[in-house]
Amino acid sequence: MGIGDYLERIFGGTAEEYAQRAGKAMLEGERLFVVTANPEILMHAQQNPKVRELLLSKEAEIVPDGISVVKAMRIFGLPAQERITGVDLAEKLLKMAGEKGKTLFLLGAKEEVVSALAKQLRDRYPTATVHYRNGYGKDKDADFEEIAALAPDLTLVALGAPAQDLLIYRHIHRFSKGVFVGVGGSFDVLSGSKRRAPAFFVKTNTEWLYRIAREPSRLGRFWNNNVKFLAEVKRAAGKRS
Ligand code: UDP
Repeated sequence: MGIGDYLERIFGGTAEEYAQRAGKAMLEGERLFVVTANPEILMHAQQNPKVRELLLSKEAEIVPDGISVVKAMRIFGLPAQERITGVDLAEKLLKMAGEKGKTLFLLGAKEEVVSALAKQLRDRYPTATVHYRNGYGKDKDADFEEIAALAPDLTLVALGAPAQDLLIYRHIHRFSKGVFVGVGGSFDVLSGSKRRAPAFFVKTNTEWLYRIAREPSRLGRFWNNNVKFLAEVKRAAGKRS
């Protein structure tokens, strides 16, 4: 099993198409688990059999979270329209769920971040029911007991990859309906605690540059997850052809 096997499973359409697809699943009461795959999780799969299993599982749908993942798909000759970030998908699904008065569960981020986001959503969508838990409880599997009892229409898990995705994967079989998405640092941005890159960086796929400039400690992570990742992808693609 190589990197190409995961890349083949990643959705190659637009962000709007995918949001519509996931929104429809939510409104029709289907069960859907979405992995917003960044290079980090694809690299983890090389060493961690559980992550590998998750990425190859029929249970999970995968979208390309980051321009490096889009580039990797293209290197393998796969169609890839654009990146589909956790924060964009989360925003669109929250709007759809909120406007339809659905039940939401937010798991992850610091207490002040997730409680602020829950409050904003309750104010904006008074007919929706919004539950939340911060991401620093000792036993996150126990948090899923609560989620299982509520059976929400939309559950966003913001703990960072791959922990958030492995957690959803351990529990997804318990649900007969509901959309579950691992959304990384999205709550920090959606709550307004952290500023997203200005539109120029988002449009030109250089959001990573903005993040490194603001948080230089991200440089090491960037190097491992993007430069090393694309080198690995090229090697794997060369072996295949
Ligand atoms: N986080 C959490 N519990 C933890 C570790 C992290 O809730 O034990 C949250 C953290 O507050 C942040 C998110 O997980 O909101 C991860 O953000 P990061 O930007 O590192 O993730 P990325 O989007 O890069 O995967």
